[in-house]
Amino acid sequence: MKDCIFCKIVRNEIPSYTVYEDDVVKAFLDISQGTPGHTLVIPKKHIANIFEYDPQLAAEVFSRIPKIARAVKASNPDIKGMNILNNNGQVAYQSVFHSHFHLVPRYTTHDDFSMTFKDNSNKYTAEDLKQIQNSIVDHMGD
Ligand code: 5GP
Ligand code: ZN
Repeated sequence: MKDCIFCKIVRNEIPSYTVYEDDVVKAFLDISQGTPGHTLVIPKKHIANIFEYDPQLAAEVFSRIPKIARAVKASNPDIKGMNILNNNGQVAYQSVFHSHFHLVPRYTTHDDFSMTFKDNSNKYTAEDLKQIQNSIVDHMGD
């Protein structure tokens, strides 16, 4: 896509610190370096978000992530773990609308990345959960 910043990175029109690329994906350092080694993995084909993947592209992209994650982890003995994140839609904090996966190396539980899930379990009855479950299951063929 002509004006997409990540498509420009794929075409090398914008420089990047690329750590891996092949015919399907490109992996490069996120400019923000949320933690040192913060890397983005993107499909070379422009798709906006997770909802646009077909099974083949999903398999091709996901199959490359563990190898890239292992290399990032091995790059620094201080990396103890990694969060892998994929934001979809502005409401979910997506700011670049070319699908990408964040590999965020973790050094300590108090480094520069944090993520919390609020525990709302006491607000849902079994009936509520059953209703949510059924609604998702009903759309699984879409
Ligand atoms: P999002 O917020 O969409 O999940 O993540 C987009 C990411 O792209 C951000 O973490 C941001 O730092 C990164 N980013 C934006 N522009 C550029 C760029 O030109 N080069 C690189 N390497 N990363 C970028
Ligand atoms: Zn793009």
